[in-house]
Amino acid sequence: MQINPQKLGNFPTPIEPLERLKTSKNLYIKRDDYSGMELSGNKVRKLEYVMSEAIQNGAQVILTAGAIQSNHCRATAAACRKLGLACHLFLFGDQASGQGGNLLLDHLLGVPITYVDPQDYDKYLEIMHDQAKVYQQEGKKTAIVPIGASYGIGNFGYIKAYKEIIAWEEATGKHLDTIVCTVGSGGTFAGLWLGNMIYGKKHKVIGIAIASDADTYKKRIREILKETLKYDHTLKSFQPDINISAIAQEIDQDFIVLDGYQGKGYAIPYEASIKRIQMVAQTEGIIFDPVYTGKAFHGMMCEIEKEHDSALLSSKNILFIHTGGLFGAFSFEKWF
Ligand SMILES: *Cc1c(COP(=O)(O)O)cnc(C)c1O
Repeated sequence: MQINPQKLGNFPTPIEPLERLKTSKNLYIKRDDYSGMELSGNKVRKLEYVMSEAIQNGAQVILTAGAIQSNHCRATAAACRKLGLACHLFLFGDQASGQGGNLLLDHLLGVPITYVDPQDYDKYLEIMHDQAKVYQQEGKKTAIVPIGASYGIGNFGYIKAYKEIIAWEEATGKHLDTIVCTVGSGGTFAGLWLGNMIYGKKHKVIGIAIASDADTYKKRIREILKETLKYDHTLKSFQPDINISAIAQEIDQDFIVLDGYQGKGYAIPYEASIKRIQMVAQTEGIIFDPVYTGKAFHGMMCEIEKEHDSALLSSKNILFIHTGGLFGAFSFEKWF
């Protein structure tokens, strides 16, 4: 079965040079933060495929989970409203542990929310399945979407984004040798990596870990890529001559996911990452978020500034993917 994306975002998103930020490289940014408003950032790309599959399977209720300020959950709730589906969110924490930002939007979108004790993180899929059974007993078909929509079908969103990048290169005659993205739950990186494999390995794809360690992410990325490779019809809709088994072998090779920029963990910004956000805001007028893009852009700049062992040593023209996240910034009373 081939999955065609639902139209939920505004694509292609622009690619712009960063002209005021002086570095030894040519930097470009892909404004996936412009993909929409309620439906914004990288999650809308994934949701175009996730929702399409859910609808094809006859789902009436979408269940998904995330952090209390999850961009993914907010975008899923908005997508469900737009498509006339019911939605149920599972957020780690309690109502008192987060206000404003995405949670405010979740409340305005008016979808039911179950607050899950963060200690039950390992059981979250089970908890969602239990709730799904309740809906099923009411005669409703359900679809469960894992955290960040980083799983088989969700990864297609960034294969499509990769296609936009090569189309931009063709249109402008410029070549971007390296693509840098945030790694939060892995789907953005997985999609870009796979896009690069499908379309002839023209780029170096680098991920910057913002919460877990790189090895954990690489394992997860491998798993979700294997899921994506099962969608052979949808893969062929991108590239009719795709050699899926050759790509499957490449998955066991190493990915470039960098450690060192997580700080103390998920959604905990640190001074250097905040300073970098301020610096970019004040030179380029672009705002990164403190949870994802701020840390990743900081990591990329540190690699550029490094004199030794830089992952970007051989890179000249670098594209950073701005994956969005601004609403989350409004939930931080104090940034550090
Ligand atoms: C979810 C998210 C990411 C991380 O993307 P993954 O595909 O989960 O790795 C990056 N930036 C923002 C703003 C996000 O909301």
